Amino acid sequence: MNKMPHVVPSYSRFPVAFVRGEGTTLWDDQGVAYLDFLSGIGVNNLGHCHPKVVAAIRQQAERLLHTCNLYRIPLQEELAAALTGTCFAEQVFFCNSGAEANEAAIKLARKTMYERKQSHRYEIITAHDGFHGRTLATLTATAQDKVQRGYAPLLEGFKYVPYNNPQAVEHAIGEHTAAIMVEPIQGEAGVIIPDPGYLAALRDLADRHDLLLIFDEIQTGMGRTGRFWCHQYSGAQPDIMTSAKALASGVPIGACLTTARIASSFSPGSHGSTFGGNPLASAVGLATVAAINEEGFLSSVVEKGNYLLAGLKKIAANRKGVTEARGCGLMAAVQLNSPAEEAVSICLSRGLLVSCQQGTVIRMLPPLIVTKEEMDRALAILDGVLNDLF
Ligand SMILES: *Cc1c(COP(=O)(O)O)cnc(C)c1O
Repeated sequence: MNKMPHVVPSYSRFPVAFVRGEGTTLWDDQGVAYLDFLSGIGVNNLGHCHPKVVAAIRQQAERLLHTCNLYRIPLQEELAAALTGTCFAEQVFFCNSGAEANEAAIKLARKTMYERKQSHRYEIITAHDGFHGRTLATLTATAQDKVQRGYAPLLEGFKYVPYNNPQAVEHAIGEHTAAIMVEPIQGEAGVIIPDPGYLAALRDLADRHDLLLIFDEIQTGMGRTGRFWCHQYSGAQPDIMTSAKALASGVPIGACLTTARIASSFSPGSHGSTFGGNPLASAVGLATVAAINEEGFLSSVVEKGNYLLAGLKKIAANRKGVTEARGCGLMAAVQLNSPAEEAVSICLSRGLLVSCQQGTVIRMLPPLIVTKEEMDRALAILDGVLNDLF
């Protein structure tokens, strides 16, 4: 029997429905508790129902939800200032999702070349197995057959290269190239961490060829890896960066951040969004940024990330079916040498939420407020499941 007769079947869903959450814990409609080590795919970085997030939503809901961008929005201006205070960027465009943030980045790259009287430069180089969203432009940027199949003709002006390979990017650069766009760590591809010099090599290529460098930090940002933004480990700065997912702790929001010079290509009327940066989303974004900026928060993510990775490495060493454990901050994964779907499904039945990526990877994105005791419980569940399977 189809239990969801009125919902488009575009997702394969586990038959579990969560009705309440607190911190790292979720409860389903039967009252069963689960450890949430996925955070709604890297969204609930502050855990469920963080008191400061709840307070910000409550206060703002009583005051003003939405006005639109025909008028000044002080909270949006405040959030833009807070975000630029965390990184290279000087100005921010707000929208409502990751795909829209990347759509804005792609449009901004093309418009910047147009304003430079170089409109023949429209091509964007992206990496195999990257993920940038589901709109037509961003799925074209997403070099994965399973995302693109059935949607031809795709958008013109994208070129794909292997990830973690600056030589391949250099080889792909041509007279039409406008930008290089990558994730600092590939999330949906299964937490693929490039070599330490990769982002700096891309920065160098972008400088030498006068290209724009775009970092998609939608999954890696907002403290996930132990820095506010993952690229801050590399010393290389992008020209354009996108954020979404954890930016407002679950209230939909997206952001495209850039320098004032590049931002000037978006003159009045050239891009927009009805909801983008509305008072509610901006208020919650501000509360989220403030929580991540609290003294000691990011260093605690590094410390907990090391603890989780050590536990996963121990599992990898002891279980034959696991070939590798990898991670950066609280973005972690174990690589199996066989399908991981069943393991993920059994983890769920034993009270642990994780996700299966690319068929053979188990990914963990716990809330950044996770405790050591919760990590111990999650590691024990995962180890037990892998022990039973292999
Ligand atoms: C999730 C994600 C996106 C798309 O975000 P949506 O809000 O689902 O549109 C884009 N890029 C990366 C790296 C992501 O992880």
